[in-house]
Amino acid sequence: MRKGDHTKAKPRICGGYLIDTVEGKIIYEHRKVWEQYHGRKIPTGLRIHHIDGNRLNNSVENLQLVNWQSHQRIHNGWKLVHNQWLRYCRGCGQYLALNKYHMRQNGTPRELCIECRKRISREHYESYREEKLQREREKYHRIHQSEKYNKRPAPRFLGR
Ligand SMILES: [Zn+2]
Ligand SMILES: [Zn+2]
Repeated sequence: MRKGDHTKAKPRICGGYLIDTVEGKIIYEHRKVWEQYHGRKIPTGLRIHHIDGNRLNNSVENLQLVNWQSHQRIHNGWKLVHNQWLRYCRGCGQYLALNKYHMRQNGTPRELCIECRKRISREHYESYREEKLQREREKYHRIHQSEKYNKRPAPRFLGR
């Protein structure tokens, strides 16, 4: 038995994908399945995306031909619905159109939609203000207490 025969017999996995080796070259199963089904080569620069996210599920209906940018987007939580890209917002758990997001300087949308950013910054502000008030109250209380007991120091640790 030659070396190659053994490895060829059972499916192998490379980088999470099923692979086969033909004459020492790695062939990705999902690419092979797509090309065989559609009867043509995958155009250069295009990728095959596993729709259900399972890279081992190489059934034809699970394989989608996408360009590089679309592929990046899909893996970054975007979804193409009726030719419009929607993006997942972790804040509200919704897929929203891009005009619902502020863009970064590099042209990519922010993690959270505009509404969530507003809400979260408001919540931050409110909890910050609440903490600040609490600190003021404690400070006032301490000053007040020390003034009160300045002349007549009270035992400090005997209950409240
Ligand atoms: Zn993919
Ligand atoms: Zn949101």
